[in-house]
Amino acid sequence: MPHHSNPESFTQLTYDYIVIGGGSTGLVVAARLAEDPSVQVGIIEAGPYHKDDPRVTIPGYFGKTLGDPSFDWMFESTPQTHLDNRILPLARGRTLGGTSTINSMTWARASKADYAALVELGNKGWSWEDWLPYFLRSESMPEAYVKGSREEKEDLAAYDANEGVHSSEGRVKLGYVPWFGDTHRPFFRALEGLGVPSNPSSGSGANTGNFTLVTSIDPKSATRSNATSAYYEPSSQSSNLHLITGAHVTRILLDGPERSEGNVGGKGEARAVGVEFEFGDAKKGEEGERKEGKKWVVGVKRDGEVVLSGGSYMSPVILEQSGIGSPSLLKSLGITPLVDLPGVGENLQDHPLVPMSYELKDSKTITGDLLRDPAFAAKELEYYQKTRKGQYASIHSAFSLLPLQHLMRPPQISAVARSIDPVKLSGGKGGGKGKRYEIQRRWIEDPHHANIELMHVPEYCTFGAGPPKKDGRYVSILVVLMHALSKGSVHASSSKSRSKPIINPAFLSHPSDLTMLTHGLRFAHRVAQSSPLGDLISTPSHPTSQELDPHSSSKGLEGYIKKLVESGHHPIGSCSMLPRKDGGVVDERLKVYGTCNIRVVDASILPIHFSAHPQATLYALGEKVGQGGIRGVAEEDDEVQKEGLEEKIDEHRQGSACGRM
Ligand SMILES: Cc1cc2nc3c(=O)[nH]c(=O)nc-3n(C[C@H](O)[C@H](O)[C@H](O)COP(=O)(O)OP(=O)(O)OC[C@H]3O[C@@H](n4cnc5c(N)ncnc54)[C@H](O)[C@@H]3O)c2cc1C
Repeated sequence: MPHHSNPESFTQLTYDYIVIGGGSTGLVVAARLAEDPSVQVGIIEAGPYHKDDPRVTIPGYFGKTLGDPSFDWMFESTPQTHLDNRILPLARGRTLGGTSTINSMTWARASKADYAALVELGNKGWSWEDWLPYFLRSESMPEAYVKGSREEKEDLAAYDANEGVHSSEGRVKLGYVPWFGDTHRPFFRALEGLGVPSNPSSGSGANTGNFTLVTSIDPKSATRSNATSAYYEPSSQSSNLHLITGAHVTRILLDGPERSEGNVGGKGEARAVGVEFEFGDAKKGEEGERKEGKKWVVGVKRDGEVVLSGGSYMSPVILEQSGIGSPSLLKSLGITPLVDLPGVGENLQDHPLVPMSYELKDSKTITGDLLRDPAFAAKELEYYQKTRKGQYASIHSAFSLLPLQHLMRPPQISAVARSIDPVKLSGGKGGGKGKRYEIQRRWIEDPHHANIELMHVPEYCTFGAGPPKKDGRYVSILVVLMHALSKGSVHASSSKSRSKPIINPAFLSHPSDLTMLTHGLRFAHRVAQSSPLGDLISTPSHPTSQELDPHSSSKGLEGYIKKLVESGHHPIGSCSMLPRKDGGVVDERLKVYGTCNIRVVDASILPIHFSAHPQATLYALGEKVGQGGIRGVAEEDDEVQKEGLEEKIDEHRQGSACGRM
């Protein structure tokens, strides 16, 4: 009886592990932990289980679930000061599988330098070499793109299966899409003409250059492979893996010396004893406010653990609602502070993204725009159902990752580097807190580290600037800033359950972010003007020729960026894995400081943004924690840190609520 339809049966058990959030990372951890039949694992997911729903399974239906409350939390940013007070939609999966159920399925690893930064920031055991076994466990890569056809592989900059750093044995089924569109290859050739080499080995730790990415689309069935299909469903019959959906966690119940307000910041550690949740849809009050519902409590065993995998927006909020966070903030919300941890909800980072669209000369070109025509869409769907090919089996997959040296002159790069003052940006603290900015400054000056991504999309994308022509055919380039200097925050808005978080990504609050994006757009425009891509294009739609005019001031383009920039939907950092003195929320074992049995395991633990889309890293993160059980990971670390450990254990045991370290 693994999927409980009611809270009565789910709460009858006391669990060894309770995983909060059945999303991309949470389901990996839960499925792997449940491989040990001696433990009981419970998953609590707020959203519903959309089993076999075509809006999830058909890759070309990507986007249909965004803005639908049965799939999407539909969060919003606060008015963004540097974007003329625009409020941005922030999509997140509120369904089993979390955001892996609604994402656009591209699969990329970051660079060795990105992972090395985790170690440099104080976290042992997180280098590229440490991640690699878990990448291999999570991915099932296809054979090389076309066996034996080197030309085709080179043409597409598709990876070579013989590189030795990939696996075809893992859980998430990966494949190349069957339909690329007519502008995919010309996009690469134009980039090569501008001196950007193609890099078929982008998954080997050096990720700059042009490449066709694999996607989390199962090549056999041409359906989405997500955390639900790759991890939950194969394990769902295990009698020790329990799931409840439609259950919104309101807080983690803590026991410990910090329980009373006076003890905040005291010596002992708090212990999670249970998790509180509401079941079913929120009821609306008289003024449309969500009313608090009946609270259910599920218990965690004395030597058990709570794994918080609510994602970058909700994990910090759940910690705050539980009394873990900045005491002054918690008090202002009427929440009793139990653990003094001011880093909770801070250091929020994202990949800001700006779309550009160009109209193609030939109005007969087959592009994604055709799917807006119901008659074409119906035929294309029939084709997909018969052959598992075509646009509905596909998603955009041509990318280029660029060091700034491709788009800016040395003095311009130096000016950006000089604008980064680690001491000032870390609130006058410098030291460990400033290290993140020192690393980013180094990456900006490094000709081998990517700071800008260009994403090719074979259809119109600039709806924020105006509608496309009815019969127009388009190609778009999305310009993404991979290491934004602007950092924001996310916090609970009240002590009430289900109140929406206050999310301030603070987009473009550091002026150099706008500078780097402006150069990114100018370079993307050069790509669009270069042969052979330029030969297919008639005119820029958005930004307009006037906004792009290099002889006019850059104000036009800057205005365009402020109007069109959006979230790249890759929030991280809000429960950062960092030393506590540097604003950390979790230690290198992902344990929340000041607690003995709560770990955060999701995108929020990454303290610095990577030059990659995150899902491949997050599946590997789930594997790293779930492999051999959390206890195994902790013991392994204990071996490394034997020195002084007994002393520390004694210190913690005195007055600690924790029976186990
Ligand atoms: C539109 C879009 C497109 C994207 N495209 C790509 C892409 O192509 N490639 C890529 O690599 N990345 C992509 N991403 C990003 C990537 O999918 C996410 O970074 C990743 O899935 C996040 O995983 P997570 O485990 O941190 O959180 P999630 O997968 O969001 O999981 C969090 C889970 O916790 C649940 N939860 C939250 N609060 C509560 C609560 N109070 N009670 C109970 N449950 C709760 C949520 O409902 C959710 O299921 C995209 C994201 C979006 C939104």
